[in-house]
Amino acid sequence: MFYKMPPQPENVLTPDAALARLMAGNKRYVEGNVSSQSFTQDHTTLLKGQNPYATILGCSDSRVSPEFCFDEQHGDLFVARVAGNYLTTDFVATIEYAVSVLHTPLIMVMGHEGCGVAKAAINAVRQNQQFPGHMQSLASALGPAVREAKKMSGDLYENVIRMNVIQNVERLKQKTPIIYKFASSGRIKIVGGIYSLKTGKVELVA
Ligand SMILES: [Zn+2]
Repeated sequence: MFYKMPPQPENVLTPDAALARLMAGNKRYVEGNVSSQSFTQDHTTLLKGQNPYATILGCSDSRVSPEFCFDEQHGDLFVARVAGNYLTTDFVATIEYAVSVLHTPLIMVMGHEGCGVAKAAINAVRQNQQFPGHMQSLASALGPAVREAKKMSGDLYENVIRMNVIQNVERLKQKTPIIYKFASSGRIKIVGGIYSLKTGKVELVA
């Protein structure tokens, strides 16, 4: 089932068109050529519902807000954020909802340069560092990315950030029959990106 009339017909896109729009928005953002945000603009349209064209699993980092990075407005992006941008059951459920009910054609797992959770995960694996309270679970979640990145040449920190994105893209493709069904039939695309704090650019890595 779908809306008889989606509130934002311009957001009904193929997966490739959705990705092209997202990257074009990031280009505007990098060039400082961004649109203004205001509540009054679309709020009457959005009272009817939402049909965002992309779902983003991103980090909670205050420097990496998807709506800014992709120069989009309310109603355009369905965003799930957790420090370290990794999947848990609740995030899988959130993304299943986005795909099967809201029909977003694109999912992006977005990591970023300088991620504190990646650094913590490296310390947890290398020096057996323990973190207080519930914070250990963030570091543990990125353990598989650290173990994989240790086998690679180059900068360990950068490789952990990259591997974490790649691994979560793979998990999304395999984890759930709902997302698998949409992805394998080409109705959605699942990609991974890394946001550069230096340039503001999002590079596709998966
Ligand atoms: Zn982060």
